[in-house]
Amino acid sequence: MQATTTSFGIEEALEQLGINKTNLGTSTGSEWFSNGEEISSVSPVDGQLIAKVSTTSKEDYEKVMASATSAFKDWRVKPAPQRGEIVRQFGEELRRLKEPLGKLVSYEMGKSYQEGLGEVQEMIDICDFAVGLSRQLHGLTMHSERPGHRMYEQYHPLGVVGIISAFNFPVAVWAWNTALAWVCGDVCVWKPSEKTPLTGVACQKIAAKVFADNDLPEGISCLINGDYKVGEMMTNDKRVPLISATGSIRMGKIVAQAVAARLGKSLLELGGNNAIIVTPDADIKMTVIGAVFGAVGTAGQRCTSTRRLIIHESIYDKVKDAVVAAYNQLRIGNPLDENNHVGPLIDKDAVKNYQNALEKVVEEGGKIIVEGGVLEGEGYESGCYVKPAIAEAENSYEIVQHETFGPVLYMMKYSGNVENALELQNGVVQGLSSAIMTNNLREAERFLSVQGSDCGIANVNIGTSGAEIGGAFGGEKETGGGRESGSDAWKIYMRRQTNTINYTTELPLAQGIKFDL
Ligand code: NAD
Repeated sequence: MQATTTSFGIEEALEQLGINKTNLGTSTGSEWFSNGEEISSVSPVDGQLIAKVSTTSKEDYEKVMASATSAFKDWRVKPAPQRGEIVRQFGEELRRLKEPLGKLVSYEMGKSYQEGLGEVQEMIDICDFAVGLSRQLHGLTMHSERPGHRMYEQYHPLGVVGIISAFNFPVAVWAWNTALAWVCGDVCVWKPSEKTPLTGVACQKIAAKVFADNDLPEGISCLINGDYKVGEMMTNDKRVPLISATGSIRMGKIVAQAVAARLGKSLLELGGNNAIIVTPDADIKMTVIGAVFGAVGTAGQRCTSTRRLIIHESIYDKVKDAVVAAYNQLRIGNPLDENNHVGPLIDKDAVKNYQNALEKVVEEGGKIIVEGGVLEGEGYESGCYVKPAIAEAENSYEIVQHETFGPVLYMMKYSGNVENALELQNGVVQGLSSAIMTNNLREAERFLSVQGSDCGIANVNIGTSGAEIGGAFGGEKETGGGRESGSDAWKIYMRRQTNTINYTTELPLAQGIKFDL
């Protein structure tokens, strides 16, 4: 478990992204304001301050809303395929700036450089998807019960979409929302996580340039910055018909209630407690790769990270030994060095939560089988590097029922048939991602059946972590029920209208009602 150092090239990346470290904060498009209190963007990689960003004041927020609501009036009348063309250009800019943006994501958030690049690639992919979608915002037509009448449904844009995002996918989640919302004709106001404000600044600059180059109104893309207080400005604002919020269940419950109180719409993408079921027919090699990557990738800070391994008793020891052996090979250190498997947690609060989870699981009767701990010394100066840990635990433990956002994996046994494993898997309040490792067709189909996994994502012979943009992404139960990205997730960004046109000279009423005058 050695740390290695590497030259970050972060200053160069910032320069390529057009970030000169002054006047960073709120943006109505190409204009920037910095009137609020400052927040620091500190890298968990080495504990260094990268830059300071101003939070959004009430006055700045009003400027943003004026810019966004005015831009919407122009943007909504632009034909959808032309909006798609703008999103195509935005995707091209992302291709051009993939490396510096990937590097900033990695340095500000602490994920590996490969994952930083992967995140930008997801942004590019969703742009491609949205370009095609811009010609496919279909409604249905249906037969009217009245002669000489035509009936159909169409979709119109909603208006200002408010996006609140989490630190762990600092740029992809924004793009999942904006690329679709923009082709749908909406304008977006984004509040990134207060832990990753600089990646937000970088994205806003990229988008603003594309809109300016096309003489489009600024305000199609706006940025606000700060913590929950700034988020609340949007959740309580009637001018924002849709709030798309990604983050913890705790946050989602507050946001959902605030938005519902004004009868707005919310799209919630909240925490997970994802399990892999390992049946007697599982391919052990595939299981180990899926489980270890799922549990320690991004230092366990993915909403889809594997938190629980539910293993059949007949192969429990074999799987346990193989997973533990793989953990002993892990290299923890600077995530910009591709030799390392595990980077830092986002900050020291996250380290505390990780330590508390390990204490709690022992208190509740669990047994640590791979020791955790905080790393110190050269390369670990930020204090955010921890050892991935494994504990044998019961599903009913309080700590196991909670999502600890770090590399803590709980292992448990099941006996009998796959239904017993499913009872454990579904026996948590979250419902994001799930997986079964099996070569048994019956078990796989039972897992996917109506009595099977209750999660938004259910995979066979793939781990829980990560997803392709083509499918709708999201989870059930306290994960919030939202769907983003592919499939027909675009519908949430639009309002549906049913239209009936009478092309006769009579006015027949529906259901044969007579109303003679
Ligand atoms: P967090 O809940 O602390 O913060 C998320 C965002 O919500 C931040 O921008 C924050 O400022 C804002 N916020 C917090 N309270 C608010 C309030 N009362 N009103 C308005 N905004 C508020 O989450 P985090 O620590 O940044 O991210 C980790 C969590 O996000 C984990 O639970 C993870 O599972 C979840 N997550 C879920 C998905 C998904 O798609 N389901 C994706 C990524 C992360």
